[in-house]
Amino acid sequence: MTAYDPNNIFAKILSGDIPSVKLYEDDDTLAFMDVMPQAPGHLLVIPKQGSRNLLDADPAVLAKLLPVVQKLANAAKEAFEADGVYVAQFNEAAAGQTVFHLHFHVIPRHDGLPLKP
Ligand code: 5GP
Repeated sequence: MTAYDPNNIFAKILSGDIPSVKLYEDDDTLAFMDVMPQAPGHLLVIPKQGSRNLLDADPAVLAKLLPVVQKLANAAKEAFEADGVYVAQFNEAAAGQTVFHLHFHVIPRHDGLPLKP
């Protein structure tokens, strides 16, 4: 399994070296707006602990992260008056992962409006 690289972009967002539009923060979790949203309200939820992706994540970290994903999915759905919410995450480049710090995408979806590529 590939080791976690602490120089990734989201680690720099966590350290404050790269700015972000923060939506939620607690001791274990940070949520912020995606810089290239695929639809209005596209946000990302990450653990503060360094995990490369779901494959190497500590289950204890996931246990704290998932309730936040759920809470923000509901909040985003309401705030954007969406018909549904897309929640996704990718593991390794072959699966579409480009930033190698575990993250969940939360994207409000409206009937008939496709995601931007
Ligand atoms: P992945 O393909 O790894 O699942 O998604 C990475 C996501 O991170 C992409 O949606 C991309 O737009 C977002 N992203 C990449 N760099 C930055 C950044 O510097 N700031 C923020 N807020 N999002 C970023």
